[in-house]
Amino acid sequence: MAQVIILGSSNAVSSPEHENTHLAILTASRQILVDCGANPIQRLQQADLNPTLLTDVILTHFHPDHVGSFPLLLMDMWLMGRTAPLTVYGLSYTLERMEKVLDLYGWKTWPRFFPVQFSLIAPVEDTPVLHFPEVKISAYPVKHFLPNIGLRVEFVPENKIFAYSCDTAPCPALPRLAREADVLLHEASGATEGHTSAPQAGEIASQAKAKSLYLIHYPTGRFANPAQDLQSEARQTYGGPVILTQDLLKIDF
Ligand SMILES: [Zn+2]
Repeated sequence: MAQVIILGSSNAVSSPEHENTHLAILTASRQILVDCGANPIQRLQQADLNPTLLTDVILTHFHPDHVGSFPLLLMDMWLMGRTAPLTVYGLSYTLERMEKVLDLYGWKTWPRFFPVQFSLIAPVEDTPVLHFPEVKISAYPVKHFLPNIGLRVEFVPENKIFAYSCDTAPCPALPRLAREADVLLHEASGATEGHTSAPQAGEIASQAKAKSLYLIHYPTGRFANPAQDLQSEARQTYGGPVILTQDLLKIDF
């Protein structure tokens, strides 16, 4: 059975209960991490996953709350004894900058450091990212401050679709990315530049005919508005089930 685990649900300013948005996609043979703003070592272990066994990392875009801890993740996996190669997927904009950061850390001098391979994602709609018999992931450029991708994930044996908007303003690619998805995981940072409000996320879920809407990347801690009910706001524009994600929420497929 495939599973998505929400490792962090917060927007860029995290809080004690809500790490920056990142998630794990688990299938029979893959343990895929999507983004790495906060150091995921703790949350992966809290989710009963062995961080050294990650098979793939997808970096969506070069904002610190999505990639800031990636060098530390690599260092930690190395210190924890990883030897297996790791593949890292991202747009050239993202991976070129990350490689420079890693070079500043002198990663090529780390003794017996495991092999890391970068795999470029073309910035065009429905680009294959990672294709295995049980899971196919495609990328869709979305509308943010810099090049960024949403993901459409097909769990093949389960015949289920998981769609993730990543950080984005409403844009025409989103209903295509999320078309008839069983789960649409959509950001709900608010109606600011480069982002989406909960009612807008509901509109996109309706347009896409998604079967359920999970909200993520929302304001948390003291930056949350206690009077605001994001689920009710999304229900104004979407008739299906709406879930406000929390850290360590497991979604089964
Ligand atoms: Zn961002």
